[in-house]
Amino acid sequence: MNEIYDVVVVGAGNSALCAALAAKEAGAKTLVLEKAPEHLSGGNSYFTGGLFRFAYTGIEDIDKLIDGLSETEKSKLDVGSYSESEFYSDVMRVTEGLSDSDLLQTLTSNSFNTMEWMKKQGVPWILAYGRQSYEHEGIRRFVGGLIVEAVGGGKGLSDSLFEIVKKSEIDIKYQSSATEILQSDNGEISGIRIKSPQGYQNISCHSVVLACGGFEANPEMRTRYLGPGWELAKVRGTQFNTGDGINMALDIGAQSAGHWSGCHSVAWDLNSPSYGDRNIADLFQKHSYIFGVIVNVNGDRFVDEGADFRNYTYAKYGREILNQPQRAAFQIFDQKTTHLLRDEYFINQVTKFEADSINELALGLDIDPEGLKTTINEFNNSVQDGEFNPTILDQKHTEGITPPKSNWAQKIDQPPYTGYAVTCGITFTFGGLKINSDSQVIDNADLPIVGLYASGEIVGGIFYNNYPGGSGLMNGAVFGKISGDNAAKFALNKK
Ligand SMILES: Cc1cc2nc3c(=O)[nH]c(=O)nc-3n(C[C@H](O)[C@H](O)[C@H](O)COP(=O)(O)OP(=O)(O)OC[C@H]3O[C@@H](n4cnc5c(N)ncnc54)[C@H](O)[C@@H]3O)c2cc1C
Repeated sequence: MNEIYDVVVVGAGNSALCAALAAKEAGAKTLVLEKAPEHLSGGNSYFTGGLFRFAYTGIEDIDKLIDGLSETEKSKLDVGSYSESEFYSDVMRVTEGLSDSDLLQTLTSNSFNTMEWMKKQGVPWILAYGRQSYEHEGIRRFVGGLIVEAVGGGKGLSDSLFEIVKKSEIDIKYQSSATEILQSDNGEISGIRIKSPQGYQNISCHSVVLACGGFEANPEMRTRYLGPGWELAKVRGTQFNTGDGINMALDIGAQSAGHWSGCHSVAWDLNSPSYGDRNIADLFQKHSYIFGVIVNVNGDRFVDEGADFRNYTYAKYGREILNQPQRAAFQIFDQKTTHLLRDEYFINQVTKFEADSINELALGLDIDPEGLKTTINEFNNSVQDGEFNPTILDQKHTEGITPPKSNWAQKIDQPPYTGYAVTCGITFTFGGLKINSDSQVIDNADLPIVGLYASGEIVGGIFYNNYPGGSGLMNGAVFGKISGDNAAKFALNKK
């Protein structure tokens, strides 16, 4: 052991850097270990849209987070409110009641104060105008519980956090993978073993925070836990989240928790690279499907595109796409809705075809033309009257087809038609380590592993089946702050 720290944080994504800042704030000598080289650091957090879901009472709370909102701007906004209990219920609803109630309570009740804490640290916030709001009758309304994002999206968030961490005199070692958690004979954490280009090294510390992601970038673990076919999914983010922290902790008797065969996965450009591209970041996603129809290569629909706001369906539809022939799907729109498409539809690197007829569109996208024509005819005939309104669940729906489209159903009849080819992109895995509300890792005897904390994607038990958009970063920040704080207090008490 040649280096001594109070707290070692494993990972350098949002959760890890929040943990490091909290540990340093509590007075601990802190080290961050990042497996990636510096130019690829930042984890999945770097690739995000930087959107955070949190509870707030109204515009007065939003005002506390965002500098320079003018009275004129505020008068044209309807941010509504989002209570802790709504946040709690949304997670419980989409996870089919399975989310760990203590952890979820901790997440929702600490969400707003953690946003304020991050602002105080120096993370700047802005209103999420781009993707989460629509103007209706002169007022801009935010939909689906997401109001605020980090300035500069995920890259901006990551850059700000690194800058603050560096200013705080927290040490960072890049290209340094944690490989083993070291314990004393009494079972307490004594250090961590790392591997860098210089070889192996043991670092001594009193507490360790594991914030080093799930196993989404590990094809073998994906196939083992998520099931056959998952080795073929595209990875939306970092190549470095290969389950190391989960495996290291399980090796010393940590308890596994959560939905090990579940993950967050979305519609992702069919021709995207195997792992995330740091320049395109999240723009390979295609999330305006609520305004069109989705078909497979046979031309058949297979999900209710309008079941709910995008934020409550997108994370489970990737799996549905993976289950289709050739793992491919096509989102089809007509001219009535192209103006509503999100910015990600307008990048150069998009697999898109436009045509004046459905037949031509099918040929251009390699969809069975007869299948597609039949589906679009049946769909158009099933659309019921009603007022289309993208800012609410408008209940403009279909009748007599399976699956139905429950909201925003409009005929596809105004050419030119556009089609976007997508496949399944995996975001992060839901299974991981069991923690308590203090972020302590729990062992198989149901006791805390003394000195070991975990936060972020690596934790299991909060998300099952599905996930409300913007909860990942919030979850990482809330438990990152708690774990860093507690890890520091524990370490300083030992001195
Ligand atoms: C394209 C995309 C868009 C997204 N958009 C959003 C969004 O807008 N809002 C939202 O809430 N969520 C979003 N998410 C989900 C979000 O990224 C995650 O929930 C969150 O970033 C996880 O943070 P984390 O700190 O736990 O993990 P990460 O940010 O992935 O950090 C893990 C870190 O651990 C490091 N690491 C791994 N193994 C080791 C090891 N052995 N030793 C040392 N370091 C190691 C990795 O290199 C990485 O730096 C998105 C994800 C993707 C991929």
